[in-house]
Amino acid sequence: MAESFKCATCGIVHETLEMSFAADSPDMYANMNREERDARCIRGSDQYIIDQKWFFIRGCLEIPIVGSDEVFLWGLWASVRQEVFDEIEDCWEIDGREKSRGPFKGRLANSLAEYPETLNLKVRILLQPIGTRPLLVVEESDHMLAIEQARGIPRRRAIELASLVLHAQPGGHSEPN
Ligand SMILES: [Zn+2]
Repeated sequence: MAESFKCATCGIVHETLEMSFAADSPDMYANMNREERDARCIRGSDQYIIDQKWFFIRGCLEIPIVGSDEVFLWGLWASVRQEVFDEIEDCWEIDGREKSRGPFKGRLANSLAEYPETLNLKVRILLQPIGTRPLLVVEESDHMLAIEQARGIPRRRAIELASLVLHAQPGGHSEPN
């Protein structure tokens, strides 16, 4: 979803407001230099393995926007045990996997600057029909991210998040106005 808005961070009217943010990789990978990445990591679009020891899958953490059927969408990574990683891979192409497999346990693998520390937060991983990324549900119910996910957020908070993540990204200011 996109719309124009006057930005609370810089005061400019941005032409597009994406109610989403996607982390390209787990933070463990992002924090490595190129040599380490090449030597230690196996990368796929939705799966990373580091040192044959750390296993990650990509998922979607949705925060409902109160009073609408929209969500603010965090595209994040979860670390999982190897058995979970293998089971998810095994059923990747199986029709009905969302009904027959899981939910699984994992931990968030991204630190979100907009919240108290989110790295390693416990999440429940819910598989979705083929072609759709798993949903991540924060399990630590007293954490701000869990509270926002459970209760939803007002539209102004969604706009605030959108503006924060827009300006946290390189080139956030470079769009035409
Ligand atoms: Zn701005």
